[in-house]
Amino acid sequence: MNDLPRIGIGIDVHRLAPGRDCMVGGIRFDAPAGPEGHSDGDAVLHAACDAVLGAAGLDDLGTLFSDRDPANRGRPSADFCRATMALLQTRGLRVLSMDCVLETEVPKLKPRRQELRESLATLFEVPADRVNIKGKTGEKVDAIGRGEAMRATVVALLGPR
Ligand SMILES: [Zn+2]
Repeated sequence: MNDLPRIGIGIDVHRLAPGRDCMVGGIRFDAPAGPEGHSDGDAVLHAACDAVLGAAGLDDLGTLFSDRDPANRGRPSADFCRATMALLQTRGLRVLSMDCVLETEVPKLKPRRQELRESLATLFEVPADRVNIKGKTGEKVDAIGRGEAMRATVVALLGPR
């Protein structure tokens, strides 16, 4: 049963606010605005956790870490990744590959793309050449195009450990 690959998808949106730390994929970017949220608002990590949890048939991130729980206030999203990977281990699964898209006006990911891949690789225990991330602008359309929000979409492929 467990030897066939499993695919999962996660999507996460955060409103952008001036002066907030801009956390993307576990890395802090210099940007005029950053994601609002109960935790550090790292949309890429939240979507990545949801993709992994979904593929494993587990509850989603919002169920596991309620935004009403004061313990999760301001919490680094890397904590959620570690908890997700611990759950994955109990299921005898690991991440085989992951692909991420971040739609946002700021920050630009390209100059730090390799750093992002390495950060995601460390957090999800996968070689850096098996994880990818790309940034896209909102083409001036909707809330993302106006710079009011960012949206991350992540697919993850899992296999047996
Ligand atoms: Zn989120």
